[in-house]
Amino acid sequence: MSYENYTNHLRKLADVNYANALLQWDQEVFMPEKGAAARASQQATLSGIAHELATAPVLGGFIKELLADNTLTALQRSNVERTAKEFEKRNKFSTQFVEEMSMAISAGFQAWQVAKKDNNYAIFEPKLQKLIDLKRREVDLAGYDEHPYDALLDDYEPGTTAADVKELFDNFKPGLKTLLDKIFAAEKPDDSFFKQHFNKDTQWDFGIDLLKQMGYDFSAGRQDISAHPFTVSFGSGDVRVTTRVSESDLTEMIWSCIHEGGHALYEQGLPEGDYGLPSGEAVSLAIHESQSRLWENNVGRSRGFWEFNYPMLQSRFGHQLGNVPLDAFYKAFNRVEPSLIRTSADELTYHFHIIIRFELELAMVEGTLSAKDLPEAWNAKYKEYLGIDVPNYSQGVLQDVHWSHGSMGYFSTYSLGSLYAAQFYAQAVSEVPGLESSIATGQTAPLLNWLRDKIHNKGRNLTSRQVCEMVTGKPLDAKYFMDYANKKYGNIYGF
Ligand SMILES: [Zn+2]
Repeated sequence: MSYENYTNHLRKLADVNYANALLQWDQEVFMPEKGAAARASQQATLSGIAHELATAPVLGGFIKELLADNTLTALQRSNVERTAKEFEKRNKFSTQFVEEMSMAISAGFQAWQVAKKDNNYAIFEPKLQKLIDLKRREVDLAGYDEHPYDALLDDYEPGTTAADVKELFDNFKPGLKTLLDKIFAAEKPDDSFFKQHFNKDTQWDFGIDLLKQMGYDFSAGRQDISAHPFTVSFGSGDVRVTTRVSESDLTEMIWSCIHEGGHALYEQGLPEGDYGLPSGEAVSLAIHESQSRLWENNVGRSRGFWEFNYPMLQSRFGHQLGNVPLDAFYKAFNRVEPSLIRTSADELTYHFHIIIRFELELAMVEGTLSAKDLPEAWNAKYKEYLGIDVPNYSQGVLQDVHWSHGSMGYFSTYSLGSLYAAQFYAQAVSEVPGLESSIATGQTAPLLNWLRDKIHNKGRNLTSRQVCEMVTGKPLDAKYFMDYANKKYGNIYGF
């Protein structure tokens, strides 16, 4: 009986968390400005209730009983063990602390929106400092072995430490730098045709078609507009995506749409019957990001994908693209150059945007960098790593939503995700006959079926490391990304 009690308890917790996520989705998509104060309080209350459920002594009792029960199946045991670890961690935080964090996050997000819109960092600075202080208290409460950052990363990427990430980045930076130097020395493809007027509704319709082609199920989701594209799940039967559309830049909608679609396919493919249980959830943020990156880059920035889709795009935008051949289009959306904005960066310089944020986060968590000094540190790193001057706060330190959400220790999972994506995609190509030629005829089902079978329907009863070894037979290795990048960009840039 008690496994059933345990399951019911976790499902109740999931109900509260998903209700809170729905309020968050609404805040970013529809909520009017004046709703902010009440919304902050509603979310803090729900966060408090979720925390009480997650740390309830009754749950502790179920866990204790089940850990001693040897009639459990392997999957049940694995669920209970994962819950036990989280139960122990969450019990280190008081409800008061969780509600204080939730209020600071709501205030931070509201201030960030205004600050970014008005290019006024001073509005955000005190809220960010409050969040940094709370995060530093959080790591002290959670505890860690080596670096305070490890306690934060553990929420997103269990089992991976700051030292692991640093080592991976250090190993991978020189090869990436060499490739970038070759690219910067070569002639840049023309991409000026992306910056014409592209009607918003026509772009929107094309994005919907792309999502359908990928296998996104619109009876289990919807797409809306938000300032920062994201995917949110309320269970595998309701997985929503958002995008943004710029009428003066075609690239924004297309690849953000494919990216979020990749995240959503993962959530829609999680085992439905395991709602609320670890076996019904995604492995980690890096594995989540591997799914979005695989679709966005390995598929969505391949020539084959556009052999099928480009004629359809041209038919919608004949005036703008009618005279642009596929090859020119392909080279243009793979143009590599240092830029200010992470979310629109090419897939190579992207990693330096992440390395910058990772290094700044380490310093903030260590307490050696305050919110006041952050813009200067940000600008100095953009100069050092990407050689560019940051002209204002909105395109600089205020560009990302993450820190306003209290999400620190998160950015590194984006780069890890790209590396996992390259390794998974290489494996898929070697295992699924004719995979790339089917993508070139608009058939993405063989790829989606492989991902469903190997990753999506497994839930999170394995760590990212175990998933990687199970799917590819090897631990994560940046070599796969570099092989992919060297081959692709060698072709495009002719070396
Ligand atoms: Zn993503």
